[in-house]
Amino acid sequence: MDFPGLFHAWGKQVIAGIGWELVKKTAELNNDPLPDFTKPTGRQHWRHQVRINGQLYAALAEEACVQAGVQLRYYESPLTVESAGDGWRVRLVGKGTMVDVTAKQIVDCTGSATAVGLAGLARMREATRQPGTLIYRVGGYDSATIDPNALKALQEKQAAAVKSGALHRTDIKGSLTGWLGKGGESGNHIPGADGTTSESHTATNVAGRQSLLRTLRFLQQEPALALMKIERLQPETGIRETYRIVGETVITVEDYEGGRVFEDAVAHSFYPIDLHFEGGVRPKHLNEGTVPTVPIRALIPKGSRNILVAGRCVSSDQLANSALRVQASCMAMGQAAGVTAALAAKAGTTPLRVPLADIRGQLARHGAIVPKTS
Ligand SMILES: Cc1cc2nc3c(=O)[nH]c(=O)nc-3n(C[C@H](O)[C@H](O)[C@H](O)COP(=O)(O)OP(=O)(O)OC[C@H]3O[C@@H](n4cnc5c(N)ncnc54)[C@H](O)[C@@H]3O)c2cc1C
Repeated sequence: MDFPGLFHAWGKQVIAGIGWELVKKTAELNNDPLPDFTKPTGRQHWRHQVRINGQLYAALAEEACVQAGVQLRYYESPLTVESAGDGWRVRLVGKGTMVDVTAKQIVDCTGSATAVGLAGLARMREATRQPGTLIYRVGGYDSATIDPNALKALQEKQAAAVKSGALHRTDIKGSLTGWLGKGGESGNHIPGADGTTSESHTATNVAGRQSLLRTLRFLQQEPALALMKIERLQPETGIRETYRIVGETVITVEDYEGGRVFEDAVAHSFYPIDLHFEGGVRPKHLNEGTVPTVPIRALIPKGSRNILVAGRCVSSDQLANSALRVQASCMAMGQAAGVTAALAAKAGTTPLRVPLADIRGQLARHGAIVPKTS
């Protein structure tokens, strides 16, 4: 998704560091404006999300990795993760490849804690998970010029199409008028979205694209919308929720909403509680001044050695996760996990034993914003 956020809360920046620098560079290189972060957003939190070109961001992130000497191995997936001596042996399979990699530390950023699961460590997931969304934008029409009577008739046709199965209720999850007004952006929900196996991920992508095709074909039958076209389409259905680790600490929604400052806090996170259900989403905003924190123990699988996670698989309950999962928070977690893994590898120890002062000091030296804990 290419609207990373939120880096700012209540008029000041709360997340910076490597992710933020890349977001800024992407906006600069593409001549895109940054939002005015000095203006409070009220309940329109999305106003502080940064609209960037996602592919350009990926190119800059890739360039930074290459310059830092990272060996990139796209198209490979871990098949086994076994402890070996004081570290790990990971078997990776890919296109015409099968390699064994040894590592002192693992940082699992798969979104679903795949490596953690393969290592036999505990994960959790809900019986009913949030739906996914295939993000796209349509154009080729002017919603302001559509005759209100034609719109009313179209809504009736939509209800009939849902009844007949030609459309699904979740293809256009809110009001049709609202959908047309905002170019259909994020307008659908894909129930049962899951990305934990290639089978479920394939099915999720097929379901997303079928939803798009049903919608487009249905709406183009309407004379005023006959020229409707796709202006922008994400390559995959976005998946909100799969597995989270069971960490040394589990962040609860009470921790999040209460702005708990964990004694081992290494990053901030800032977003409304944002649980999606089949029919929509009702964001629950944080109280004025509240800025939640992420403890390093929520990035460490319980009872583990030499492994961390970063991103939406952070150890948290479902409601806390619905806010923690956004990109600025994931970026801050990524930097904190990376620093901790590097320090642990250098000292020949495990993440839980790395002195907090060392983690915080290194993060601050690299431009991250570290929560004040006293
Ligand atoms: C529809 C939708 C809209 C959203 N809108 C916003 C928004 O506007 N702003 C915002 O900030 N956030 C938004 N989010 C949330 C945010 O985009 C994600 O929660 C966040 O990107 C998660 O980051 P992550 O690094 O944990 O996982 P991911 O971004 O999912 O990255 C995981 C990576 O690991 C790779 N991977 C996974 N499994 C394997 C494997 N077995 N082998 C090899 N590679 C693997 C994947 O290909 C992927 O590249 C949205 C999410 C959705 C679904």
